[in-house]
Amino acid sequence: MLRLYRGIRLPAMTTCVPTERRSLQALPKAHLHVHLDGSYPLQAVEALARRQGASFQVPGSFATVWEFFDAYGTVPRLVQSHEDLAELCRALVHAEAAQGVFYLEPAIEPQLYAPRLGALDQVTKTMLAAFAEASQDARIEVGALLTINTDENFEISQDLARIAAAHAGRGVTGLGTAGFVEPGNLGRYRRSAEIARAAGLPVVSHAGQTGGPDSVEEALNELGATRISHGFRAIESESLIERLASEQIVCDICPVSNARLGVVPNICDHPAPKLLSAGVPVTLNADDELWFAASITDQYEVARTEWGLDDQALVGFARAGALATGMSAATRARFLNGIDAWLAKGSGA
Ligand SMILES: [Zn+2]
Repeated sequence: MLRLYRGIRLPAMTTCVPTERRSLQALPKAHLHVHLDGSYPLQAVEALARRQGASFQVPGSFATVWEFFDAYGTVPRLVQSHEDLAELCRALVHAEAAQGVFYLEPAIEPQLYAPRLGALDQVTKTMLAAFAEASQDARIEVGALLTINTDENFEISQDLARIAAAHAGRGVTGLGTAGFVEPGNLGRYRRSAEIARAAGLPVVSHAGQTGGPDSVEEALNELGATRISHGFRAIESESLIERLASEQIVCDICPVSNARLGVVPNICDHPAPKLLSAGVPVTLNADDELWFAASITDQYEVARTEWGLDDQALVGFARAGALATGMSAATRARFLNGIDAWLAKGSGA
């Protein structure tokens, strides 16, 4: 039973095979494609809005994707102080821990808050401190992907890369690029990518969502990306699938987001299982839980009920998360052991 699709239009559910009943919430997960600003827990955002005498509601549907992006900007604008921001960051970490997430890697965009809160580096520090504090309390590991919005941030992209580099190994685990328009002329960001890579940070790029295989190749070739946010349109190119598999480029895929934004025609026929079967490391992710009303656990529920995958196949998505380079060796060992233990328990666990 899917409780998640509040107001979301999706195809009728068709359960193809008998499904197992291990708790998907209990499955250890790495959550790697999570936009901070679109993922705060709804209750925390509502509470923040109330304190400001405002109200906050998630629309049931969006007429266009641009309407979605307009709505998306309303949440960062509610944040009026560093403490507001820290509170939302801590709430996210606790909510993710409750979903069985061992390692969380939110994409952070301090540039969304800097107009009200001050310098980019100060905003970044507030986020990182809140993650560090909450990760101790919630007993999960958190690393941040400092992210350039390629639709908007060219002028400050190298500043963002330098801030990421300054916090490498101290809370920042990668440089992200995110944008809806693909290919994104990513060659413009080559210098930013070099700054990050020189500091030992991987580049994680959005591609293969609105753009075809050429957009994924652009991210790999222009920026040296080692993980792709989305990437499902790699399914259109045999040679790209082979490359992703042989180089073990992780694709952090978000099935419900894709369906909600209409970038896949039908969630039942999502390419993610085919890519995984072809040897591409694929993880499942929520993207923007606040807006799509679907947690990371709900993505696994889709894989079980819509794609008809058994638990042995489902753990393939979870295990791919261990390839995230920001994850410490200790967490990786605990994470992989936890997945094995989950599977060993048998259905009904
Ligand atoms: Zn995304």
